[in-house]
Amino acid sequence: QWSLADFEIGGPLGKGKFGRVYLAREAKSKYIVALKVIFKEQIEKYKIHHQLRREMEIQTSLSHPNILRLFGWFDDDERIFLILEYAHGGELYGVLKKNGHLTEQQAATYIASLSQALAYCHGKCVIHRDIKPENLLLDHEGRLKIADFGWSVQSSNKRKTMCGTLDYLAPEMVENRDHDYAVDNWTLGILCYEFLYGNPPFEAESQKDTFKR
Ligand code: ADP
Ligand code: MG
Ligand code: MG
Repeated sequence: QWSLADFEIGGPLGKGKFGRVYLAREAKSKYIVALKVIFKEQIEKYKIHHQLRREMEIQTSLSHPNILRLFGWFDDDERIFLILEYAHGGELYGVLKKNGHLTEQQAATYIASLSQALAYCHGKCVIHRDIKPENLLLDHEGRLKIADFGWSVQSSNKRKTMCGTLDYLAPEMVENRDHDYAVDNWTLGILCYEFLYGNPPFEAESQKDTFKR
């Protein structure tokens, strides 16, 4: 069983809606990881118990070269810590912003990796539901890793909850209808466009206009 005392904590790597992520090193083995920290107070406040449980259980059960590994977790009085594979290259979002858009070669490579990872997930009845450039990380060799399974579900039935980020939402989700693994495939198309052109195809000034487009 791990505890905070087993790790040397380094600088911040990023943050999302609920999580703050830090570089860390397991003290004995010197193995580098990323620690995702979620405050229990936030879990209470935003009622994300279910979401976090899914993130932990689903991501732990997945083992694929293009999916970020979740090695384990532990907690203290105030926080929950997820022990994650470290992605040295950071967010694919950063590469996209820096270069404006990707070359066809680069885009093809990322789309192939993403397709293989999604096919693996869907084969296990796992839907990610929040694929976007902020949640796609790169390792030290530039290999794509799907991260952030906070919105994922494991189910072969149709789902109802609307989730994800507007620009990447499939029409069935926008219209609040039942959805399944195909929502991830929709996102694959959105990303392919964004990789090549630099912006997602339905981007607009307001959320209302994105819905309309
Ligand atoms: P949230 O669920 O709050 O969105 P994420 O898991 O997406 O949190 O992590 C937030 C950000 O932290 C990511 O977008 C990324 O920039 C950074 N990050 C997360 N995990 C890692 C990791 N394993 N290695 C490097 N950076 C990471
Ligand atoms: Mg995220
Ligand atoms: Mg999340």
